[in-house]
Order: sequence, then C-alpha cells, then structure tokens
Amino acid sequence: MKPSNGSPQFDLWLDGSARPAASGASFARHSPFDGAPAGVFADGGEQDAERAVDIARREFDTGTWPTSPARRRYEVLTETARLLTVNADALAERMVLESGKPVTLALGEVAASVRCLQYYAGLALSAEGSAVSERNPSALGLILREPVGVAALITAWNFPLLGVVCKLAPALAAGCTVVAKPSHLCPGPTVLLARYLSEAGLPGGVFNVVTSELEQGAVVGQHFASSPKVDKVAFTGSTASGQAVMRAAAANTKRVALELGGKSANIVFPDAPLEDAARTAIGAFTFNSGQQCSAGSRLLVHCDVHDEFTAMLKEYAAAQVLGDPRETTTTMGPLISSRQYERVLGYIDLGRAEAKLLTGGGRPADPALERGYFVEPTVFDEVSNSSRLAQEEIFGPVLSVISFGTEEEAVALANDSAYGLAGGVWTGSMDTALRVVKGVRTGKMFVNCYNTAGIDDMPHGGYKNSGTGREFGEVGLEEFQELKTVQILLR
Ligand code: NAD
Repeated sequence: MKPSNGSPQFDLWLDGSARPAASGASFARHSPFDGAPAGVFADGGEQDAERAVDIARREFDTGTWPTSPARRRYEVLTETARLLTVNADALAERMVLESGKPVTLALGEVAASVRCLQYYAGLALSAEGSAVSERNPSALGLILREPVGVAALITAWNFPLLGVVCKLAPALAAGCTVVAKPSHLCPGPTVLLARYLSEAGLPGGVFNVVTSELEQGAVVGQHFASSPKVDKVAFTGSTASGQAVMRAAAANTKRVALELGGKSANIVFPDAPLEDAARTAIGAFTFNSGQQCSAGSRLLVHCDVHDEFTAMLKEYAAAQVLGDPRETTTTMGPLISSRQYERVLGYIDLGRAEAKLLTGGGRPADPALERGYFVEPTVFDEVSNSSRLAQEEIFGPVLSVISFGTEEEAVALANDSAYGLAGGVWTGSMDTALRVVKGVRTGKMFVNCYNTAGIDDMPHGGYKNSGTGREFGEVGLEEFQELKTVQILLR
C-alpha cells in the first residue's frame, strides 16, 4: 500500500505480490460519509483477469497447495485468523472509510471472519472421506474428497471482508487455488486479506485479487465466470448479476454457487414477546443501514396486535443513531453510494403513493450528516404484499408492514415472493413456530430472534431467486470439493 496524494494506493495481488493493472489504470474511492478520499485502486481488466486465472491454474495443476497435508492448511488458516485479530482495527478502519459501515459493525465483521477462518482450519484437519465395505464381501469402495480446482470468488460490498472469507476459507481448506474480484465500492479489505494470507505462509499464486471499477468489474467477473480454466464460481451479489454469472458459467459446465437478494418476512403473532419482537424487527431492517441480503424487510403483524405493535416500532426506530461511522455510538451509517441513495429515495416516494408512512421517509435533519448518503429508518404501514415496495429488494432502511389474520395467511404472504433467503417468526407457541418454519420456503428461519441467536457456521443460502448453493458449515467446505468414488476388487 503506497500513499498517493494522501490517499492510500492498492495494486492488484498476483502471484504473491502487489502488481499494477496491465493498463496502468486506477480508480479512486471516496467515503460515502463525507466524500474524503478512501483509496486509489488498480483498475484491472480482461488481461489481468486472464493472468490471474493462468496463475491460479498453474498453482492448482503443478503447485504444492492442492496436495499439501491438512495440517499445513490448518496452520495457514489459523495464522491468518491471528493476523486478522492483530490487525482488526486497520481492517475495520478500511471498511468504515470505503463503505461507511459503523465501526462497531466493522469490528464485528472482522471477529466473524476470524471465527470463520478458525472453523475451516478445524475442518481442514478433521474432514474425512468414507468407505463402503458392506455391500460386497470381496470388494471395497472408497469415497474420496478432492479440491474442485480453480475457484473464482466474485463478491459484493456490504460484507466486504466476511463475504470473501466465507468463500475463501473453505476453498483453501479444500486445497483449491483462487481468483477473487471484490466490488469496486469496497475493494480494500480483500487486498489486505491477500497480504495477511501471504504473511501467514500461503504460497504465491494460490490467492489472486483483481480489483476493477464498475464497468470493468462486470468484464472481469464475466471473464472469471466463463473461463474454461476456472472450475467453480462462487458469487455474491444481485439476482440479475448472478443470473449473468450462471449463464457465462455454462460455457464449461463449471460448479456455480450464487448468494443473491432477498425480501424476507418477519412474522409476529399476538402471543409473542412483543417488546422484544418490535425492538428486533427494527434491527432486522436497519442493520448495516438495510444493506443486508437477509434483512427482515417485510414485517407481517397479526391484526389483533397491529396498533400496539406499530406504536412500538415508531419508538424503537427513533432510537437508532445515525452518525459518523467512526463513532462507536453510531448504529446506522450512510448508504454506500449516490446511486443507491437515489434508488432508496425513489422507493420511499413510491411508498408514499402506495402505502401509509409511519415514520422516517427522508434525510436526517442533522447538518453534520449533510454530505453523507443518509436515509432515516423508514416504516410504511398498510402495504399490499403485491406492491413493488413489498416485492422488490430495496437494500436500504425501508420496512413494509403487512397485516394478517391467520397462520395460513401469514405463511402464504411470506411465500408470495420471488425470493427465499430468510425469515422470522415470533410466538409463545413452539407448535406455531415450527409449523411456520416448515411452511415458509426460505434457506434460513429465525424463531423469536432475527440474526441475533449468535450461532456461527450454520449453512447460509437461498431458495428461489435468492440463489443456489450454501456457505458456512460443513456444506460450505463440500461446495469446494468434488467426490471421487473408487471400487476395489479384492483378490
Ligand atoms: P452486484 O450484483 O452489483 O455486484 C456483485 C459483484 O458482481 C461485484 O463484484 C460486481 O463487480 C460483479 N458483477 C457485476 N455484474 C457482473 C456480471 N455481469 N458478471 C459477473 N460479475 C458481475 O451486487 P452489489 O450491489 O455489489 O451487492 C448487493 C446485492 O448483493 C444485493 O442484491 C444483496 O442482496 C446481495 N447479497 C447477497 C448475499 C447473500 O448471502 N445472499 C450477501 C450479500 C449481498
């Protein structure tokens, strides 16, 4: 990292060292809080993407990493976790500067990334294949797990460290080599991660990073997704980009995992602990300023408690602290970009026409925030589930409240969505909770909590347009492995 006119400069990371883009081009990122320079990044293009893929291919086919002993992979991942812990403040500062994420969330993301690295370090040591010895007395079957090959990781900006680590840690634990393309809106943490991995002893060429500006980003992403030298693509981003990745990946029938958008329903029954449910419902759509794939952006409230519950929502929304993301008291920072800010305000205009504004609905009045892309926590009531507000992913702090009368109606409303990523159910009855859990078609359900149970490493991924494949947990490792069966005739 070299300072350039006061702004730190980041190169690509290729073959174990920092390299400029082949074209020599770069792009600048500014803080979405106050427009301060956040960094200058190499603007990699197709030539750089091809080079990264060639390096990763070479390392997979002839390098030492794919056949390294499990203990070696454990050691590198464990040491990387240690380096992330030691450098947590620097990583968090980078996220705050480039993305506007509040520092407490950024530090939480570093801690979650450390746990993820440690989890897959453990799995690298403990994962085992299996044997089939019972079918035929004169034969033995073996089921071997092998690394899938060269993995391409294409990631979004909203979890700029964890979003990469949750793919990279299992990929490395499996013995894959990797090319990565972070979002142009927060690329710094991925480049820092490459440095820490190198310091931790990862051989050069096993992890390669190509940063690029907006248009070039799609070019590099498409190159990775379509390259016949890449065996697997793991993507996080919008449904439209994910579909483009899937189409490109068909070129060599590569393995595809897609973590896409959501419009998750958080369902509140009258027998729920209402205060807790209301407080958590606010966190469920304001966390990371609503820029969260699993956000509980539809709130289904039983009509018997509607008035009481919406009054509590107003109160808890007002308790959110919009402010300088460097301050530990701030709970909501700015949105990521002017484009996203305009988009979210557009949805708020739509909401004013389609539904009843309960609270929020604009910029905060505080003059100290006027240079940032801030939007107040905004709640719309009397929303129709068929409206655009309730059907489209807004990716900002906007909540749609929808009333229901029966359990069947709640489940039908939750399922009336093109997405299926997450959801919540609040009730004093475990029978009701489990019936709803089984009825809602999503990859993840929360019971009497929302993102707050504190269980790491459970599989994460979506039904329907929310994607395909899973991250985290043992299945997250399997995503980067191929199965090979061996049949041995005993003589
Ligand atoms: P995006 O689709 O604009 O970009 C994601 C990544 O894909 C970026 O690196 C981008 O450069 C690249 N890209 C863009 N077009 C591409 C193309 N045609 N081919 C290949 N690569 C391409 O998404 P974003 O704005 O960065 O992220 C927000 C989206 O991510 C939201 O929809 C959110 O729900 C989703 N997301 C999902 C999860 C999940 O786990 N399901 C997690 C975080 C974010």
